[in-house]
Amino acid sequence: MNESAPIVPDAAIGILGGGQLGRMLALAAKQMGYRVHVLTPDLDSPAGQVSDLEIVAAYYDHDKIRLFAAGVKVVTFEFENVPSGTAAAAAEETIVRPKHSVLHTTQNRLREKRFLKGIGVPVTPFFPVHSLEDIERALEEIGRKDQKEPWAVVKTVVSGYDGHGQYTIAAEEDIEIAFKGLAGREGILEGFVTFEKEISVVGARGVDGSFAHWGAIENIHSRHILDLSVAPARIDASVANDAVDLTRTILEALDVVGVLCVEMFLTTDGQLLVNEIAPRPHNSGHLTIDACMTSQFEQQLRGVCGLPLGPTDFLRPAAAMANLLGDLWEGGEPDFASALTVPDVRLHLYGKANARPGRKMGHLSAVGSTVEEAREKVLTARSKLASKGRGSSS
Ligand code: AMP
Repeated sequence: MNESAPIVPDAAIGILGGGQLGRMLALAAKQMGYRVHVLTPDLDSPAGQVSDLEIVAAYYDHDKIRLFAAGVKVVTFEFENVPSGTAAAAAEETIVRPKHSVLHTTQNRLREKRFLKGIGVPVTPFFPVHSLEDIERALEEIGRKDQKEPWAVVKTVVSGYDGHGQYTIAAEEDIEIAFKGLAGREGILEGFVTFEKEISVVGARGVDGSFAHWGAIENIHSRHILDLSVAPARIDASVANDAVDLTRTILEALDVVGVLCVEMFLTTDGQLLVNEIAPRPHNSGHLTIDACMTSQFEQQLRGVCGLPLGPTDFLRPAAAMANLLGDLWEGGEPDFASALTVPDVRLHLYGKANARPGRKMGHLSAVGSTVEEAREKVLTARSKLASKGRGSSS
């Protein structure tokens, strides 16, 4: 393996994971003339549908992982809960970027928070919890706030996403609910952050240590799931610069090659606290596909292939992205034609057959002269999806 030579088209790249992030990476790779192999546990996956080869295998089937890795020049992943042992098995055969130690750190909330604290990145107070007593003790340390806001959030240490395995403690009776919710799994209790805004910075790092980013993106969640992102975030320029600096610090400390997203809270007293990091493109960065010179997916490709990182300029002053959850399909097929009457809006669907409530089925993006304008367009388009004139779901 020659680690320093760039991997150029039409080499094959391998993606571990078959979800929408893999799909959008595969599309960027196909555009640049690469071949794309995907390894996923599910047949006809969103990424598999647009790739040259879809291998269906379990992540713990290391023989298949090695075979898969041997057929590509570089392996990357679209899903950080790929077991780090899987990435290590792939690394026996080919280049894996980011390296598996990055996965190891980021797929465990405790390990991740300890790492961040260790390099001086501000995080909310956190405690490992295994028992009711641990939760009580942690709450003693944090202090129960007044009744206006919750005290803490208990999360599972591994495999949590989009609010799954997450319990807010706002009253004594929530303590037992949170403990039962853990169902014997390792937990982390975090002090509840009273935030003014949630922001993210998607950062990219090249093989040569170069760094690129798209500035701070502002995120609005609903039911713990990202609902809307707008860029640039409506925050002071100095705070946005600090958020980018924190991101760079994290990418360098982890020695990331590829893309990593840092999700942060901007607290009501003006402090930035890192909530979590994801060593891959991120939902909040989807707006870069239509709004920027280089999308987060092309950047991941360039990074992991050892190519120069691309320019991240926005082509218009502002952009917005609204997620399309399965709930939108409840009354039948959404009215795509009506949504697409809104100017400057683009539709992205992920090819998922079953539209379950809460499942990310696609997103809309819009650009505009101001954040308010882009936001308005994307929300108008989304509301038209649910309007009359929908087709039937049959
Ligand atoms: P996570 O799975 O950690 O990204 O959490 C999903 C969402 O839950 C975040 O984007 C926040 O809106 C909320 N959340 C998570 N942790 C906290 C916390 N410690 N304090 C306040 N809100 C939180």
